[in-house]
Amino acid sequence: MRPDGDAIGSVAALTLILRKLGAQAEGCIPDPVPWFYREVSGTRVLRTVEELRGKEFDTVVVLDSSDLDRIGDAVELFPARTPDVVIDHHVTNSGFGLLNLCAPDYAAVALIVHEIGKRLVEYDRELAELLLLGIATDTGFFKYESVDAQVFEAAAELARYGARIQPIASAVLEHRTPNTIRLLTEMFHTLHLELGGKLAYAYVSAGMLRRTGCREEDTEGFVGELRAIHGVEVAILFSEWPEGEVHVSLRSKSYADVSRVALRFGGGGHPRAAGCTLKVTRLEEAIYPVVAAARGLLEEAG
Ligand code: AMP
Ligand code: MN
Repeated sequence: MRPDGDAIGSVAALTLILRKLGAQAEGCIPDPVPWFYREVSGTRVLRTVEELRGKEFDTVVVLDSSDLDRIGDAVELFPARTPDVVIDHHVTNSGFGLLNLCAPDYAAVALIVHEIGKRLVEYDRELAELLLLGIATDTGFFKYESVDAQVFEAAAELARYGARIQPIASAVLEHRTPNTIRLLTEMFHTLHLELGGKLAYAYVSAGMLRRTGCREEDTEGFVGELRAIHGVEVAILFSEWPEGEVHVSLRSKSYADVSRVALRFGGGGHPRAAGCTLKVTRLEEAIYPVVAAARGLLEEAG
């Protein structure tokens, strides 16, 4: 659900790898793939749950998901509800597969898929670019602390197969429409700074989305704008959509483990990027408790 570049890139890449191995493989992302990822051509291989309904699968692999809830309606494609293989890198992974490979020291699931794929098949540009999409997006385009020599080596290997970072960066980082900028401006009007500027939070309400003609997927990257403020350690974006639900995106810059806050509210993620979804009737009902928990986290960290 709410797929990011790593989920999209690694599911599509594994699909292509399995097909190169001769398997009849389908790659599924339950929520709509945000339109701008379509500019990376290999993402066209992805199918919706609707398109795959009725097919029978003898092996199910789930990628980049910390628990079964994260694949939404896709569970309907395998009635047993236990995937054969889970490949992930979230510290909060619950180990819900028969075979679980969870490696939190990998910056992206695409890196794990690459470690497997490069030993098995010959890459082409499309496949290499999907893996680079996953690696680039989950490392904030090579700027998070998870970026080490292994990340650059993998990127170099993929570049040798023809993967280009420019179309990926353009699709992911340069897709804002005038309407999205209006929404971003409205979001900044709701910005609150606390704890001497270490905690930043803001919201996007359903009304703001309607007013600006935006969809929830257009808020991709907004929480990063909050974290980018000088002095901010924890940034939180509350997005109300659909009405009755608030998605909380948490980010931290260098030391706070925001996955602990997300976990407390039934979500999960990584130390520097985590999320959860709350069912509430008013935005404030999500904002108040989550901000209180983040405040506690920062005060505890000193
Ligand atoms: P987001 O803020 O939605 O971009 O998500 C940031 C990170 O938190 C991603 O690694 C997601 O996999 C994870 N995440 C987001 N929402 C949830 C959730 N409801 N449950 C578990 N993990 C989540
Ligand atoms: Mn990931």
